[in-house]
Amino acid sequence: MSQNNNPQRQIPSIDSLLRSEQGQEMKAGAGHELTRDALQAATLACRSNITTLTAMDGPEIQHWLLDYATNWLNDLMSPALKKVLNLTGTVLHTNLGRAPLPRSSIEAMITVASGASNLEYDLDKGKRGDRDDHVEAWLCRLTGAEAATVVNNNAAAVMLTLNSLAFNKAVAVSRGELVEIGGSFRIPDIMKRANCQLLEVGTTNRTHPRDYSQAATEGVCAIMRVHTSNFEVQGFTKSVPDKELADIARQHNIPFINDLGSGALTDLTKFGLPAEATARDAIAQGSNVVTFSGDKLLGGPQCGLIVGDTDCIERIRKNPIKRALRCDKVTLAALESVLRLYANPEQLAKEIPTLGILTKSTDDIEAMAATVAKTAEPALAEWANVRVEPCHSQIGSGALPVDLLPSSAIVLTPKLDKRSAVEDLAAAFRHLPVPVIGRIHDGELWFDLRCLPESETFTRDLDLLKPPRC
Ligand SMILES: *Cc1c(COP(=O)(O)O)cnc(C)c1O
Repeated sequence: MSQNNNPQRQIPSIDSLLRSEQGQEMKAGAGHELTRDALQAATLACRSNITTLTAMDGPEIQHWLLDYATNWLNDLMSPALKKVLNLTGTVLHTNLGRAPLPRSSIEAMITVASGASNLEYDLDKGKRGDRDDHVEAWLCRLTGAEAATVVNNNAAAVMLTLNSLAFNKAVAVSRGELVEIGGSFRIPDIMKRANCQLLEVGTTNRTHPRDYSQAATEGVCAIMRVHTSNFEVQGFTKSVPDKELADIARQHNIPFINDLGSGALTDLTKFGLPAEATARDAIAQGSNVVTFSGDKLLGGPQCGLIVGDTDCIERIRKNPIKRALRCDKVTLAALESVLRLYANPEQLAKEIPTLGILTKSTDDIEAMAATVAKTAEPALAEWANVRVEPCHSQIGSGALPVDLLPSSAIVLTPKLDKRSAVEDLAAAFRHLPVPVIGRIHDGELWFDLRCLPESETFTRDLDLLKPPRC
């Protein structure tokens, strides 16, 4: 216990801390200003922690401050965006970065990121080219569309399409499709921001062809379909098939815009997965513009793909807002290399990680869960009971919302009889060098192992775990 009755006086000045050996080292690494900020943060923390302070003598306080400042600096200087293990059971998890990219895409990204490229340069003609050129032919080939363009995400694709084809005009959308996707993407709001007027047709559960025909007669300038990505209406329902919507639109000489959301580039039933609308089908059914995400089922980088009739795509490309929403070279390089993989559908599950994960056999996941549990059990003996349980993974990102994939999980039941025990355990896993993210259910922590590449990826850091003390 310090003899001084004002413990604050014991705190050394920032300048003296800066002059100390450790202070000098910090300065050499992080520079004067950051080191000063770190020491200031340490001083503040020390002042607000009187109990710590009064229990220490002068040299101890100095030591405490320098350690605190070093940790503060290390935290600040380590990457904010880091790799995590997604064991939530949702494969395409928007909060966890959605699709992992194929090796070849990562290499393509490194190549274009490292130097100059022919991003907007036509090497044959020796003059200016268009950045869409690198992917348009592939997108047309893979979807059967006449033309294609790319923007930053599918939300941008929808916004730009509406703003280009229906500026200051009305667009018909079924009341059953006025969806909200993840917080800020709501069709009525997007319409407003795109400067379009929403004409709601039909009802929540049933919309008929005549509802759209009537809207077309009343002068809407487009018909839009929005994939009801994250929910399903069951029971007394009716919606108008794409082909019929396309016919109605054609009769009135207006475009039919089809937002697929996830959208697939290939028939997923070939891989034993539930059917999801493909862009090719949507085009074949007569959609004039089809929009979908690059980083959902497609398994590529974050981007929004717009494919369709030449005249519509031309209008979209000429919209000055396109310039504000265009993709960068790194995204285009990744996208192009993923599209090339689609040239050979036989190899897809092997080449595209998202499809590999979605098609992983339940037996393989179960075997991995058994291996993981064997190591986890002794490693966690003090804190939790470990068992293996069957579970269901979700595809996520609005794809196939009701279809679940059988999987296997390890389930941790905290031994500590404390209300926050499971949250504390989950937090301990989130603070591992490679944070592990699971799902809490009924007071237990579930790790669905579908997205785990191999058992060591999970088990090797377990001895670094610092769960709450009993
Ligand atoms: C996911 C989704 C979007 C938004 O796509 P982002 O790529 O997340 O911008 C738009 N429409 C539908 C139907 C979707 O499912």
